[in-house]
Amino acid sequence: MHSLTKTALSFKGIGRRCVALNRFSETRIICRGLTCAAEHGEHENELYDVIISGGGMVGTAMACSLGLDPNLEGKKILLLEAGNKKVMDKVPDTYSTRVSSISPGSATLLSGVGTWDHIMNMRCKPYQKMQVWDACSDALITFDKENLQDEMAYIVENDIIVAALTKQLENLSDQVRVQYKSKVVKYTWPKSHQVADAIPWVQVILANGQTLQTKLLIGADGPNSMVRREAGIPTVKWNYDQSAVVAVLHLSEPTENNVAWQRFLPTGPIAMLPLSDTESSLVWSTSHRHAEELLQLDEESFVDSINTAFWSNENHSELVETAGSLFRTALSVLMPSAGSARQLPPSVAGIGPKSRVMFPLGMGHASEYIRHRVALIGDAAHRVHPLAGQGANLGFGDVACLTQLLSQAAFNGKDLGAMQHLLGYETERQRHNLPMMAAIDLMKRLYSTNAAPMVVLRTFGLQATNTLPAMKAQIMAFASK
Ligand SMILES: Cc1cc2nc3c(=O)[nH]c(=O)nc-3n(C[C@H](O)[C@H](O)[C@H](O)COP(=O)(O)OP(=O)(O)OC[C@H]3O[C@@H](n4cnc5c(N)ncnc54)[C@H](O)[C@@H]3O)c2cc1C
Repeated sequence: MHSLTKTALSFKGIGRRCVALNRFSETRIICRGLTCAAEHGEHENELYDVIISGGGMVGTAMACSLGLDPNLEGKKILLLEAGNKKVMDKVPDTYSTRVSSISPGSATLLSGVGTWDHIMNMRCKPYQKMQVWDACSDALITFDKENLQDEMAYIVENDIIVAALTKQLENLSDQVRVQYKSKVVKYTWPKSHQVADAIPWVQVILANGQTLQTKLLIGADGPNSMVRREAGIPTVKWNYDQSAVVAVLHLSEPTENNVAWQRFLPTGPIAMLPLSDTESSLVWSTSHRHAEELLQLDEESFVDSINTAFWSNENHSELVETAGSLFRTALSVLMPSAGSARQLPPSVAGIGPKSRVMFPLGMGHASEYIRHRVALIGDAAHRVHPLAGQGANLGFGDVACLTQLLSQAAFNGKDLGAMQHLLGYETERQRHNLPMMAAIDLMKRLYSTNAAPMVVLRTFGLQATNTLPAMKAQIMAFASK
């Protein structure tokens, strides 16, 4: 039972006794013998301090984070999600195809909102090492934690992250109200302050006709964000010429499986991410046509294609190999102990049942993350190629930053929807997200060719970087935020 006002109440049907009393209600109301419409979420024109539109991984984390912040206690917060509530009473026997590599920074955020232990208890695979290599040359780079006890990152199924956050929201029902199956169909923005009778809040209209108002709207509604579009926020975006094929892979034999593997093929990167001693997750970015062909292949041919993509040297050329080997020799003279040995990825024996799916890939960036009474987070603000496994991590970074600024604003008694602190959010996050997005896009372009001069150039770059532990540490620190 949530916020109720006398004017907001209507009664539907007969046969229930309903008591409305929690922090959403200013009045205690007892409806005898009537079903209270508020139970059905029909809170006409109700005013919220914050409405989060979109309950994916990022929006749900935002709701938990705001709900737990002591400075925001007493604020009325609502999460709206178009889809169903995603609960998980029991972890499924089979792995989901949708997984994310979760950075230590995101793990800290998820821990801060009380869900990380739950995720670890459900299902989560830490890894300590990453090997990235070029299919057109012998160049490779490895990243590992100096102390192999430390985790580099964690592979977690997206459903598990959302289920853990959803569970936590149930515990926060006095702080955060949640409406599932609630698709927003229209937003109306506050008019300029000069218009005397203008509504000063953002109005949110749902598909069921319900109208709500909020002092701050947080758009967490994904890459095709309606919040972003209706607010008229300019966005730089393009579709890549690639789709990602994802699948659950059965390995030929059990291994420690604590390495994330990624090989850059001329058609796009193929990655194998550890799930357990015997299973890994595939993210194979390739041309749309090739992706469609991969989905059509029988299981044996699909598995052969994966093993070939990781093992074959058919894209090597003599010119590049000679240049690369000379450069490697020169580096080993200058830095004899630097660099790291090549490891071979495990071979694949089969795939999980019905586990092949493809997603078209694109990049997008909102040139503004905020407007008066509006903030964008997650893929609504930025969408990246999955080659660096950063999309959700950038979103969790947004959550941490926006929570901190809203908490401070509430502590100082400020209007949560005011530009003043929202600007701080935009500046801080764009400073982090833009260089990351530029680096990911550059990598995508740099590796999308097998033209010899470009291959030689990137081979030198990768080999040189691999011998510079300080630079590798910096890259790792940046990616683990
Ligand atoms: C193949 C692939 C692999 C990836 N791997 C990684 C990885 O390893 N690591 C990583 O960090 N990231 C990864 N990503 C990126 C990551 O999946 C996304 O960045 C992340 O899911 C974005 O979350 P979000 O909550 O911002 O958006 P979404 O997941 O798109 O959620 C948006 C939510 O808003 C709801 N919604 C939309 N419109 C409305 C509306 N009008 N009203 C109400 N609700 C609405 C939707 O129902 C949805 O639940 C990968 C992506 C792909 C495609």
